Amino acid sequence: MSKVYYIPARVSKWSYKHSVVGMFSAAINELPFKDYFAKEDYVAVKIHLGNYGSYRTIRPVFVRKLNDMLKGLGAKPFVTESVRVKGLDLLEMAAWNGYTAESLGAPLIVADGIFGADGVTVPCDEPIKHVDICSAIYHAQGMLVLSHTKGHIQSGFGGALKNLGMGCLVPKSRGHLHFQTDTEFVFDRNLCSECLQCVEICPLNASSFNDDGDWVKDEEACWNCGRCARVCQTGALKVSINQSEFNFGLAAATKSVIDTFKKNKIFYVNFMHEIQPECDCMPAADVPVVQDQGILFSDDPVAIDMASLDMINKAEVIKDSLAGERGKTSEALLNLHGSDPYSHILNSEKLGLGSTKYELINLQ
Ligand code: SF4
Ligand code: SF4
Repeated sequence: MSKVYYIPARVSKWSYKHSVVGMFSAAINELPFKDYFAKEDYVAVKIHLGNYGSYRTIRPVFVRKLNDMLKGLGAKPFVTESVRVKGLDLLEMAAWNGYTAESLGAPLIVADGIFGADGVTVPCDEPIKHVDICSAIYHAQGMLVLSHTKGHIQSGFGGALKNLGMGCLVPKSRGHLHFQTDTEFVFDRNLCSECLQCVEICPLNASSFNDDGDWVKDEEACWNCGRCARVCQTGALKVSINQSEFNFGLAAATKSVIDTFKKNKIFYVNFMHEIQPECDCMPAADVPVVQDQGILFSDDPVAIDMASLDMINKAEVIKDSLAGERGKTSEALLNLHGSDPYSHILNSEKLGLGSTKYELINLQ
């Protein structure tokens, strides 16, 4: 049974020591990070930097505390994310959300280069065959995976495993997880309201309308992220993704990422704050579906995600949220987009990445 440590989100006394930041500080001093990260290790602190309107992400103060702890061990941390928009824009967006080398206490580096092309090809289980892992992550000796837990249109739940299996791949490899078999984007002009959201959301200007008024995409430039179809609210632009294929591919890619590290060189922290229904890469953040739960720590990505999801499903649904609106109760709360949030976790367990059985240890 894997150990998952946690600190609660509720504050019992009005003092720094009892604040979440104070409890977090005490927790990271108590946890055995020295068994994972050695002097001179380059440690990739993997994070999601949000988007211009998606501000419900991990606060820089927590990242800085972790970087200070790593530097105290003599390690060399750097904060990193793979590109979702081209790298220079990603850094601009990061600064917009308060993430800079100064606020984080460590350099902020684009993991796969400014064009998302710096990857190292490694083998992956069938049917994926191979994936390109961001070079800055591939070459690091250790990794601290910081995940803001939330819903996700494809995997149902976004936590540590998704942060590895999608977040550590270059964009083309990520796109391949979505569309493993040939999938057509289908446009129906009769349903189109000409809102242009599908054009505005594309990070590569690959989504547009031709002179005849038909939606077209630039196949050369496109990363196959699927966002253009995801934001279409009228059903005019659709793409079907095979969920079970995707969820297995995600677990297989996660395994490939973990396999590039030596044993006991990765540690996971799940931030269960502002648990909103969609991914932090979307252009806006909706209100949380449940109240803040706290912060979880583990060296097992399967256990920490399972524990996070179980906590979410046990929590009271916030009535005035997407989950409340859709009449969700506690069971599979994050199944908001028709995708089973447990599927990639169970697939990851089958591939030997960890255990869904865990012991929850309250550090307070
Ligand atoms: S799938 Fe759509 S949004 Fe994504 S890169 Fe391609 S055209 Fe742009
Ligand atoms: S998002 Fe949908 S409705 Fe809006 S312009 Fe694109 S295809 Fe048309």
